[in-house]
Amino acid sequence: MRIAELRATLAMMKKMLVTGALGQIGSELVPALRERYGSEAIVASGIRFRPVNSVTEGGTFEILDCTSVDDISAIVQRHDVGTIYHMAAIMSAIGEKKPEEAWDLNFGAFANILKVARQHRCAVFFPSSIGAFGPTTPSQNTPQDTLQRPTTIYGVAKVAGEMLSDYYAARFGLDTRGLRLPGLISNVTPPGGGTTDYAVDIFYQAVREKRYACFLRAETRLDMMYMPDAISSITQLMEADASRLKHRNAFNVTAMSITPAELAAEIQRYIPDFVMDYDVDPLRQEIADSWPDSMDDSAARAEWDWSPRYDLASMTKDMLKKVRTKLK
Ligand code: NAD
Repeated sequence: MRIAELRATLAMMKKMLVTGALGQIGSELVPALRERYGSEAIVASGIRFRPVNSVTEGGTFEILDCTSVDDISAIVQRHDVGTIYHMAAIMSAIGEKKPEEAWDLNFGAFANILKVARQHRCAVFFPSSIGAFGPTTPSQNTPQDTLQRPTTIYGVAKVAGEMLSDYYAARFGLDTRGLRLPGLISNVTPPGGGTTDYAVDIFYQAVREKRYACFLRAETRLDMMYMPDAISSITQLMEADASRLKHRNAFNVTAMSITPAELAAEIQRYIPDFVMDYDVDPLRQEIADSWPDSMDDSAARAEWDWSPRYDLASMTKDMLKKVRTKLK
């Protein structure tokens, strides 16, 4: 369907709610959704009205604490919401410091979203993660359907969320869809305390100081993706023809499988005197070691034509350009 037709169709349809809209993903997802479907179709929300930026100012913005089922329900009714993109969460490394709070938000608030979605027949997007895998999962070319015994509270809540999404689809016919996103690299909003944050911090430090102390070991291989690809993957999945989806939820998606040493070497092509030091954080190293090296995303490619635009080289070139402009 062409964008103009899509806009016309959606104008007659219900609105889209984004929770946790001021986070790393939400702050780029909201402008992309407004651009794609029209600003009036999107309701952004966050736990507080901070920071004031294009997400809070560029269209409808509501304060919404997703731990309250009544507050979610009120906003869904008030705005006639038909789709919920649920981004509110606590990231992996912070989750290990406050596991009960992480469970209440990462699983409990998502259960609230599904409860409201069932009442109001909303479609739901759930962002799972490479964190849904654990040390007993095959780490090379990790299959779509495989062993999932994560050792972090973040991962436990992601597996539970994936399963609850499947349950609501099978039991109540709800249109739930989701992705297992890898570490995301972006230049708009800083990441919120995850295990792959080094891949963002490194760019700012490379431009500012020409030096970065990485909290993961040099050879720690993890899947990553540039934010423009992550945003496309979300909208593409939500627009995909339902009859082609065999999985619906928790599709593996990836764009590159890289180590800190490889990322540093790519940055050195543009900043030859950039120096990488290693100051390993045992907590984040242990989490990273429990996650896959590289995921097999063939189900996403087969069922809804997933294909990333950016690899390590093109992402690094674009990140350096954007971060240099930002820091001027
Ligand atoms: P983030 O930490 O940057 O943003 C999360 C947002 O949720 C924050 O703005 C925070 O204020 C908000 N929030 C916290 N408590 C809330 C509450 N009670 N009610 C409403 N909002 C609340 O996270 P992100 O990077 O944007 O990630 C969004 C989702 O994508 C998460 O589920 C995350 O696990 C998943 N994901 C992210 C990555 C990544 O690299 N960023 C990778 C894989 C999966």
